Parts: sequence; structure tokens; C-alpha cells
Amino acid sequence: MIHQKVYLDNAATTPMAPEVIEAMLPYMKEEFGNPSSTHYFGRRTKAAIETARKVVAKYINANPSEIIFTSGGTEADNMAINCSIKDLGVTHIITSPIEHHAVLHTVEEASKNNIRVSYVKLTTNGHIDLDNLEQLLQTKDKTLVSLMHANNEIGNLLPMKNVGELCKKYNAYFHSDTVQTMGHYIIDTQKIHIHFLTCGAHKFHGPKGVGFLYKSDKIKINAMMHGGAQERNLRGGTENLYGIVGLAKAMELAYEHLDTHMKHVQGIKSYFIEKLKQNFPGVTFNGDAEGSSLYTVLNASFPPNDKKDMLLFMLDINGVAASGGSACSSGSNKGSHVLTALGVNPERTNIRFSFSRYTTLQDIDYTIQKLTELLGVTAEKSYG
Ligand code: PLP
Repeated sequence: MIHQKVYLDNAATTPMAPEVIEAMLPYMKEEFGNPSSTHYFGRRTKAAIETARKVVAKYINANPSEIIFTSGGTEADNMAINCSIKDLGVTHIITSPIEHHAVLHTVEEASKNNIRVSYVKLTTNGHIDLDNLEQLLQTKDKTLVSLMHANNEIGNLLPMKNVGELCKKYNAYFHSDTVQTMGHYIIDTQKIHIHFLTCGAHKFHGPKGVGFLYKSDKIKINAMMHGGAQERNLRGGTENLYGIVGLAKAMELAYEHLDTHMKHVQGIKSYFIEKLKQNFPGVTFNGDAEGSSLYTVLNASFPPNDKKDMLLFMLDINGVAASGGSACSSGSNKGSHVLTALGVNPERTNIRFSFSRYTTLQDIDYTIQKLTELLGVTAEKSYG
């Protein structure tokens, strides 16, 4: 029997904050006007969108004109890359093999259309090799650097400011996928040499299907989605009104209480690391978990054991939701491109646990208890 439901998959998505739902409700009920309509109903919802834009812009120290609301992180990543090619004359993209597919697949498509793609080398613990990045930047081609702020599988953090400086030195455009860090870190667009940032509201207790692209006012792009004049002619289509209102509320909650949330979630992660080390001999962590790492993500790697393929499923049956991170070298299961790029031993069991401000120490204790029962470690100190 399941006594508890523990959700440790917050990098996939987070539950919506009750305050966010509250803020959205009026826009599902009485405030229903089309923001493009010039009458009373439309003017009110248009005003709500522009207020949300100001709120979002404020928290990343940007101008409201630099915020383009989208359907989420994927669309924003696509827009940044494709507009760089279409409107900024980019012919060369530098990225890494561990980007999210929203970037990798977009770049792969571009490579079919004569865009040169370079993949920057990684250090042994999965960080971007900055020397190699600098070498790759030494080209006459108009270049876009697309590197994520934090990796969604292993949590490694990019030194965004340093990468921005390198881009400035070599006159390259810089796009950073900040989908995992928006709402979790202070991102100040005035302090970083950056052209594009991306956001998905559902990663920080906002609604799904809404996000934004930050596009620096210093560059000019044209429409990606053709249609109406919404989003300053850059993205046609009636706005996701209540989604946008919810996104702004989620940003506000995240940033007004950032220190408290950070402290809490970092505490959860450190506690989990300690408990795993105490209970599971040979456990390691993929990436730089105890170094420069996103505090919401922990990718644990258990030594080879006979439960390997079943562990995630068994955890689920026992009430713990986490995410697989298998490094499959062959076969029908393609596994994780991130762990494969890191050269992680495919015989080990890799699980990504990810936390939020709603995660409790009791959730972690319960998870450790279930892992112990499933792997049988405490009894025999072996993985059976
Ligand atoms: N980029 C990263 C790093 C992500 O983790 C995700 C979501 O999993 C995305 C992009 C896609 O965002 P969305 O789900 O909002 O389209």
C-alpha cells in the first residue's frame, strides 16, 4: 500500500502555486476580452498583459519591450536560434552536446540548411570547456553561442557572465536557455552580455504552455509566427491571457522570496546527498553536484545492481516520482544524451531527483527508506 506520494521531478514540471491559480481565475471568468479588441473588455485584458510584461521585465532588469510572451521554453529557444539565422545573419552556431532538445534539434535542423555547427568540449564533470569555446569563437563567421544556464539533467551551471564576455570579445551573439534557472536565480540582463534568454513558467510554479523570450533591444528580429500584430508583430496569435497573468505572478512569488526558497531547497539537496552517501556505498553524483550546480537538481548514480531497469518503476509503485537518467549505449532505448556525452557507465542506475520549495525533509526520508528497501542495502550493505 502506498502511504505517501512524493514528487521529486520538479525539473520536469512543478505544481502551480495556489496564489498563481488565484491570480489567473478572474481571467478565466469575467475578464475574457480579446486583448486586441479596442473596447472596454479588450482594453482591460490588454492592460493585464502589459502589467505582466512590466513585472517580468523588472525581475530580470530588462525593458518591457524586450519580453516576448511565447508558449514556453521550447518556442522561445526555437525563436532565438531561428531568428538569429533569419534576421541577424548568423552562419555558425556554437552549442554543446548536453543542451535540451529544444536547442539541439533546432540546431540540427539548421545544419541541414548550411549553418555550420560546432559542439564545445566538456570537462570531465560536464562543464563547458571555456578554452575550447574561445578557440571555436575565433572565426570570421557570424556566430551565435547557445549554451544553457543550467543543465536540466545534471544541474551543472554555466558561468554566464564569463561566456557573455567571451561572446563580446569575439563579437558573437549569445543565447542562454534559462528555462531551469528563471525564478531560481537572479538574472540581471544589464550585467551580462546577453542577447536571448528563455523561460517556461511551469518550472517555477506557474502554468504550463506559457513562457517568454527575452530579446535584447540592441538587436532587431522579425516575426517568427505570422498573423496578427500581437507581441509587437513578432508573434501573431491571440495571447494566452491567463497564462501570462499566471507567469507574472509566479515570477513575483519566486523573486520576492528567493532567498528563503534557495536556502530551503539547497538544504533539501544537501540533506539528500548526505543520506544517500550514508546509506548507499558507492553512490556517486553525475555532473558537479557538490560544486557549481543548480540547487533543485540531483542526479544520483548507483553502482550496478540487479534492480537497474526496474528501480524507477519500483519507486513509482512505492509512491516516489523521479526521473530516469539512463545512459544507454545501444538498443531501442536511446537513453540520456547528456549522460552519454559525459561518458557515464551505462551499467549504473542513474536517477534524477529534483526539488522545489514544497519538498520536505520527510519526503527525502521516505525516499531514502524506499530506496533502501528496494536496493536492500541497509540489511546486507550490498545491491543484491
Ligand atoms: N529547456 C530546458 C533546459 C528545459 O528543461 C525545458 C523543459 O523541460 C525546456 C527547454 C522546454 O521548455 P517548455 O516545456 O516550456 O517548452
